Amino acid sequence: MGVEDTAWTSLKTRICELEALEAVIQLLEWDQQTMMPPGGSAHRGVQLATISALMHDKTSDPQLGEWLGVLSDSDDPHVMAAVRNLGRSHRRAVQIPSRLVADIATASNVGFGAWMAAREANDFGQFEGALERLVSLRRDEVACQGPAAHPYDHLLEQYDPGSTTAQLQPMFARLRPELANFIDTVSSRPRPKSVSGKWAVNDQRCFSHSVISTLGFRLNDGRLDSAAHPFTVGMGRNDVRLTTHLYEDDLLGGLTGTIHEAGHGMYEQGLPADLAGTSIAAAAGMGLHESQSRFWENVIGRSLPFFEWLVPLIKQHFPDDNLSPADWYGHANRVERSLIRIQADEATYNLHIIIRFELELALLSGELSVADLPDAWNAAYRDLLGVSPDSPNDGVLQDVHWSNGLFGYFPSYTIGNLYAASFRYQMQDDVPDMWTNVADGDFGPVLAWLRDKVHRHGHSLDAPDIFRAAVGDRDPVADLMAHLNERQAALNLN
Ligand SMILES: [Zn+2]
Repeated sequence: MGVEDTAWTSLKTRICELEALEAVIQLLEWDQQTMMPPGGSAHRGVQLATISALMHDKTSDPQLGEWLGVLSDSDDPHVMAAVRNLGRSHRRAVQIPSRLVADIATASNVGFGAWMAAREANDFGQFEGALERLVSLRRDEVACQGPAAHPYDHLLEQYDPGSTTAQLQPMFARLRPELANFIDTVSSRPRPKSVSGKWAVNDQRCFSHSVISTLGFRLNDGRLDSAAHPFTVGMGRNDVRLTTHLYEDDLLGGLTGTIHEAGHGMYEQGLPADLAGTSIAAAAGMGLHESQSRFWENVIGRSLPFFEWLVPLIKQHFPDDNLSPADWYGHANRVERSLIRIQADEATYNLHIIIRFELELALLSGELSVADLPDAWNAAYRDLLGVSPDSPNDGVLQDVHWSNGLFGYFPSYTIGNLYAASFRYQMQDDVPDMWTNVADGDFGPVLAWLRDKVHRHGHSLDAPDIFRAAVGDRDPVADLMAHLNERQAALNLN
């Protein structure tokens, strides 16, 4: 065996260990949020910290660096993809001192506690010091990682490898005024009626299972459970756990969340089985992951053909429900200026993200101080959305992300919406009958397209390259605006 073969064999063994440890962390976290009794939280903290430390040792190991070096000019594209993927985490693990990693973990813990207390008191002052500490530690972390085209790139890379600030800034800068105009125009028109009713939660469970299995989520290789804040984890393509939150008085609110998570889940179930243990049978990033959840939730799940298929199914599970496909379609496509990101409609949502992205850039570059953040937040909402939070809880304190030291994550949501819009138009070209298929409840052709263009690549390519290979030179900003405009235009015909 040559030096390269030996290094590749050793590297694959290490990747298998890391993938197994990662899956254990996912399973522990799933259990924590679905099954674990409250008393278990201290034990769980120790278990998670132990496994994370083990993963850090195995990732920063100098031997791993040697294998990566030996393989760095391999001719095999799979080997090169593995070297790129693992090289990123190895570089981070080596460059960021353990002391700093531990400080960030502690500050995140403190930050979360301070944020909860600040929310309780509706008082930003109680969170300010903890947030200052987190911003300063993240700036140290960025500084350890050496020069980059933009320091924020180091943060983005953890969630969206391959995306850069230089690429996102102009795209978001174009989207910003177009969305603001769109929301202005739509807000001046009469809004479709919202629907109301009662749908027993137990019946919704059975209904949800029926919807997601028809979409293509394999229930033999996955589960759907309840959680306060829905999320999805994949321990491998044959064990994918979805969670959802159902509401007795809001059938669509629960269903769109369930479909969103099933979109994440179908991506996990479609990762290339034959490449397990190579670091390639993994999602290519959170932006692409969100494109899958948002494609199913918004592009499919808020379309009129979808409701044409869904209404008879609703009738089977809830015989008293007499709402028409047009009623549901109107309700699902209401646009309104809002203060709270997680309650925002499909269009406005992106403005909430752009505001956070711009504030993060300013905080991390030092242009904006944490003390000035609440004013900057309120000013951005006034300028861009024309609404003004009258309390910190409805403003700067609304999201959990920063309290955990999570910076660089928010853009993934809008990247996901942009990718999903271009996937829609490319799919319409490639699968001309797609909307008839959807109205017939035949989602196979839609899923097959996503499997072929997105899922099967795993992380052999970075997300921006998978996107380009799927849609060519389509313009995602133009596609997202076209998608939103079409949705509103169809409303007016009703
Ligand atoms: Zn999601």
